[in-house]
Amino acid sequence: MKEIGHWINGKLVAGTSGKFADVFNPATGEVQARVALASKAELDAATADAAKAQVKWGATNPQRRARVMMAMVGLLNRDMDKLAEALSSEHGKTIPDAKGDIQRGLEVIEFCIGAPHLLKGEFTDSAGPGIDMYSMRQPIGVAAGITPFNFPAMIPMWKMGPALACGNAFILKPSERAPTVPLMLAALMKEAGLPDGVMQVINGDKESVDAILDNETISGVGFVGSTPIAQYIYARGTANGKRVQCFGGAKNHMIIMPDADLDQAADALVGAGYGAAGERCMAISVAVPVGEKTADALVAKLIPRIEKLKVGPYTAGNDVDYGPVVTGAAKANIMKLIESGVASGAELVVDGRDFKLQGYEDGFFVGPHLFDKVTTDMEIYRKEIFGPVLSVVRATTYEEALGMAMDHEYGNGTAIYTRDGDTARDFAARINVGMIGINVPIPVPLAYHTFGGWKKSSFGDLNQHGPDSFRFYTRTKTITARWPSGIKEGGEFNFKQME
Ligand code: NAD
Repeated sequence: MKEIGHWINGKLVAGTSGKFADVFNPATGEVQARVALASKAELDAATADAAKAQVKWGATNPQRRARVMMAMVGLLNRDMDKLAEALSSEHGKTIPDAKGDIQRGLEVIEFCIGAPHLLKGEFTDSAGPGIDMYSMRQPIGVAAGITPFNFPAMIPMWKMGPALACGNAFILKPSERAPTVPLMLAALMKEAGLPDGVMQVINGDKESVDAILDNETISGVGFVGSTPIAQYIYARGTANGKRVQCFGGAKNHMIIMPDADLDQAADALVGAGYGAAGERCMAISVAVPVGEKTADALVAKLIPRIEKLKVGPYTAGNDVDYGPVVTGAAKANIMKLIESGVASGAELVVDGRDFKLQGYEDGFFVGPHLFDKVTTDMEIYRKEIFGPVLSVVRATTYEEALGMAMDHEYGNGTAIYTRDGDTARDFAARINVGMIGINVPIPVPLAYHTFGGWKKSSFGDLNQHGPDSFRFYTRTKTITARWPSGIKEGGEFNFKQME
């Protein structure tokens, strides 16, 4: 059995805790490796080494750190195929989707090449007579990132890029369900010129997460994952005096107005609802058509499109729209929620419950499902399903549709499909959600903007990537400087006052 360890001080090392977790091939259901789960002692030792390595890295000029990022971009492009293969084999997503996962991370590394510019401070010349005032942004020291299974390349890069470019050491605790790509990323960082010890990848579960949260050397923690864990990490991390940003779950609504191009909206819903088997925090899981006529027409357009979806292993190449979900437990949870939808009276108009794939009977495949006439009190509406299941909730008016998205506990992303600029503008202005698409189904902001939800989708301040990330991974120091007149003016004995 292949054994996956940690990346510590510039090399792969085996775990010493004696604890392991299974890593599946979701397409076949087989255990393909076991990953070591670090103990508190392993995490603490790797952190102590990282803190030592950070001193020199933090003092390295930002331009040199940026050059490491520049080299990293080249290496990611060089190894794109290898990374995508490793990613798909543990996660199950298709190869083009895995490349998208890597690409969206790579773009944040590209953004980080701007570190010299992004780290420039503020300067006030002559704040008082002979007095200058300036502020600089310095690394926070050792930062940690705790990341989910669903973007094994993108989210680690969203965290490590800015953290390292700002001069920090970085401890990555990736998902134990997809641990290989994060280790490959650390090896590429070394090849790009990152000194040993500055980035450590510690595989693990709750024990290593708690060790991060309690470690006094780690001063900042970035988390992405489900909301209950986000809340827990935020509470424990901040109680220990750390700066913490946590991004949680989602239930993203798409509102379809009667004037929308319904073919475009249906195509968008199928891609955004079923791509990556619905395992995206920006997936659209709720469609809200406004008016019965819009709803009937939309559902009529969705059904044939959904029935045509091709589900299969990533090895089947471009012939597959989406792959399996990540584990048998994830599949069981999705199937349970589907049964709850049926029991609560929603109409299952595309029923994928009997889906079987010949030759892959033990894989974690879930056929596509479409529920119509879902109501807001149902469990399938309230909970994040994180599978290939789309719910249609019919609204009578725009205000009712808007209110639904506003009242939902999650607020990650949302979209509106309309041809009316006034409606779109009103929607963007009033909705209490962090990322809005106008005729765009998955409004993931680009690297130089920031990514983050509202309500129970995010805890703490500052978003991921973009300028916010450089604020999160640095702290401000402000200097007031007065140089007494020197030999140019002769002696000066009076204490100068600010005027
Ligand atoms: P998860 O919460 O199960 O795991 C995330 C991380 O937390 C992993 O590294 C895991 O090892 C760790 N963890 C799990 N249980 C823990 C516990 N009890 N104590 C301490 N640490 C624990 O999430 P997941 O299933 O890997 O990812 C899917 C979730 O992530 C979905 O809810 C999805 O919406 C969310 N997500 C959110 C965003 C965003 O930006 N808002 C992006 C991607 C995924």
